[in-house]
Amino acid sequence: MALNLIFLGPPGAGKGTQADRFAAARGIPKISTGDILRDAVAAGTDVGLKAKAVMESGALVGDDIMIAIVRERLDRSDVRRGFILDGFPRTVAQATALEGIMLGRSPLIVIDIQVPEAELVRRLTNRLICVNCGANAPEGVTADSSGAVDARCQRCGGKFVQRVDDGDAVVRERLKVYQQKTRPLVEFYSARPTFCAIDGAQPPTRVAELIASAVDAVSGEVGVAGGGVR
Ligand code: AMP
Repeated sequence: MALNLIFLGPPGAGKGTQADRFAAARGIPKISTGDILRDAVAAGTDVGLKAKAVMESGALVGDDIMIAIVRERLDRSDVRRGFILDGFPRTVAQATALEGIMLGRSPLIVIDIQVPEAELVRRLTNRLICVNCGANAPEGVTADSSGAVDARCQRCGGKFVQRVDDGDAVVRERLKVYQQKTRPLVEFYSARPTFCAIDGAQPPTRVAELIASAVDAVSGEVGVAGGGVR
């Protein structure tokens, strides 16, 4: 049985950071649809050309494109022992399609990372990422009033910049889109025994512990491999 997870939660909840940590700890791939789209934009593919303006406005890319991307990705052999989906599903249509993709596989474990809205806005508008590899800047690294940052990426030496969709107005739009389109997924999944609500307002290391113990508890209950394995 594989460890198949989705990380739900609003933008800025820490899904990407926590999914990276968990994926590394358990040796399973993290699949971030936001990263896949940003790579497509950078490479100038057809999908990238379609997605660019939509992403910059804070809206969602179409369900058909996103479902096709995830269907193809979950067909690859590296997900045999499990995977973490970060940023998918984001609509009820995507969640319904995922049900079909999951037929015959181990049950989904759903991690819902919850953070109050004021904290999300603070985190997103202060967030800096590496222009080359997309890594988050370490805590405490900030931009001055001109946007200059006095630090380089610890992974690749790249410059830190604000993400194009992390400006004030776009952040508000992304949070509104989350409430309208993605929040209903909490209802979609919450009755399942594999649904776990996590307090994401805690420091990152504490959130990682909460996620690890919640996954171990539910995977033990439903008989999924990986329970207790660090
Ligand atoms: P993220 O990095 O997850 O915040 O995603 C960045 C942007 O990519 C989002 O604001 C959307 O425009 C787009 N995106 C990522 N995942 C999805 C998805 N599952 N459905 C629709 N749009 C998505």
